[in-house]
Amino acid sequence: MNMEATVQISGMSHVYVSDDQANMALEDVQLTVHPGEFVSLLGPSGCGKTTLLSIIAGLIQPTQGEVRINGKSITSPTPEVGYMLQQDYLFPWRTIYDNSIIGLQLLGRLNMETEAYVAHLLEEMGLSRYRTYRPSQLSGGMRQRVALVRTLATEPELLLLDEPFSALDYQTKLQLEDLVIQTLHDRDKTAILVTHDITEAIAMSDRIILLEPRPGRIRREIVIPEEIRRTLPLQAREIPGFHELFRDIWREFELMGGKGEEAGR
Ligand code: ADP
Ligand code: MG
Repeated sequence: MNMEATVQISGMSHVYVSDDQANMALEDVQLTVHPGEFVSLLGPSGCGKTTLLSIIAGLIQPTQGEVRINGKSITSPTPEVGYMLQQDYLFPWRTIYDNSIIGLQLLGRLNMETEAYVAHLLEEMGLSRYRTYRPSQLSGGMRQRVALVRTLATEPELLLLDEPFSALDYQTKLQLEDLVIQTLHDRDKTAILVTHDITEAIAMSDRIILLEPRPGRIRREIVIPEEIRRTLPLQAREIPGFHELFRDIWREFELMGGKGEEAGR
């Protein structure tokens, strides 16, 4: 087994500077993510989750510290990392199929083999029938599935998911959670999920990194019990220890200063 960390972050801080102020978005963050792990960054809005994910993606240079992916220092986006956002950002004028292959096209890797892989992913996500549709003809949940196909198509080793379910209705969100976990497990992917939803974080993760705001710091790390981990998200919610864990994290949110009301949606 390869024991090298997939993601290694040490002594990282990030300050946003504008004309009249400096905002310490992240302070002294240390994080190690191992191959095949599913880690959530959980915390109230403004605690630096998106900033941290953007730094890992190589989209933002941190003020201090560095990110290593498979031991290599990251200073710009790399094909090893796939990024999926809350908004699907599909191109409205492109068909579902043409949206799915865009990453491969940009990397100059579109060929018979990769096209067959995209067709397989579309099939797996129940989207084959909609290949020629435009995004506006699909529901929000289907569009997020297309975004997932597009992200997986280039076979990144690490997936970064920034609140990918938060714009969806509850039922669709639960279905998609199961689909995402199953898809990533089947392919031995490593993933980092950003969410402000405590339940989602417990149900999906191997480990939760709880962040607190102003400045964004790691407050606590929570290892999810084995029984919850090996159960798919929807079912996991019914395991007795689940609610105990929820209450525990909920209390932390309250201690962070009245941010609890944002947490449980
Ligand atoms: P989260 O994703 O947890 O809601 P963000 O990473 O978006 O948090 O933001 C963390 C902090 O940094 C917030 O105080 C936010 O206002 C600030 N911030 C985020 N992006 C920028 C930016 N581009 N310029 C200035 N400040 C920013
Ligand atoms: Mg965010």
